[in-house]
Amino acid sequence: MDVCPTGAYTWIEQDGKRYLQLSHAKCVFCGICEEMCPYKAITITNNFELAATHKEDLLVKAGFDTKESVESLGKKLNEKIFSVFKRSLHVREVDAGSCNGCEWEFVALYNSPVHDLQRFGIDVVASPRHADCLLVTGPPTRNMETALIKTYHATPEPKMVIALGACASSGGIFSNCYATKNGIDNVVPVDIYIPGCPPRPQAIIYGFLLALDRVRK
Ligand code: SF4
Ligand code: SF4
Repeated sequence: MDVCPTGAYTWIEQDGKRYLQLSHAKCVFCGICEEMCPYKAITITNNFELAATHKEDLLVKAGFDTKESVESLGKKLNEKIFSVFKRSLHVREVDAGSCNGCEWEFVALYNSPVHDLQRFGIDVVASPRHADCLLVTGPPTRNMETALIKTYHATPEPKMVIALGACASSGGIFSNCYATKNGIDNVVPVDIYIPGCPPRPQAIIYGFLLALDRVRK
């Protein structure tokens, strides 16, 4: 699978057999593998339930296709936020050197008239001191390393850190480069990884749902 620009495929040996393994942390969903596979064995689906609490869980598992809407997921999010916090969930977005694709996707989800995620109890705040959750994008760059660490320490406990997108999860298309750190978990602890480049709206909401489950525990 040399066609993959981020090296998301690796061959592994297990019990004397050879398997192809896909890392969702690295995949940028460009579709090249689907296009180039001579056996048409690869299909990019609209499955959004990809977020995980451990990076190892982003190694590919059998997937399934789902078309659950933003509206229905938003209602689940609303119920969970209010059962955990009894108020809205305060999110501080941290751009740690992203291309801004992930920000565009989140902004389109959060305050566009189409999805309007705010109505389900998500509130984006200007200071980490007011935040329950850091939503971090970017590989991160070395230039943003100190800022990310300071932001992390400025956020009160209990705090959640969500790595949004392939860059934040693994370095993505910018991995293995002198200027980046191959994923924000090399700088601060991460609770949830949301794959995608950028992640689709449902995938972002699903990641928030997983994050809230961690707070409840
Ligand atoms: S869709 Fe993902 S796995 Fe396939 S080539 Fe693109 S980055 Fe690699
Ligand atoms: S994951 Fe993709 S969209 Fe998001 S910051 Fe990285 S390159 Fe941009």
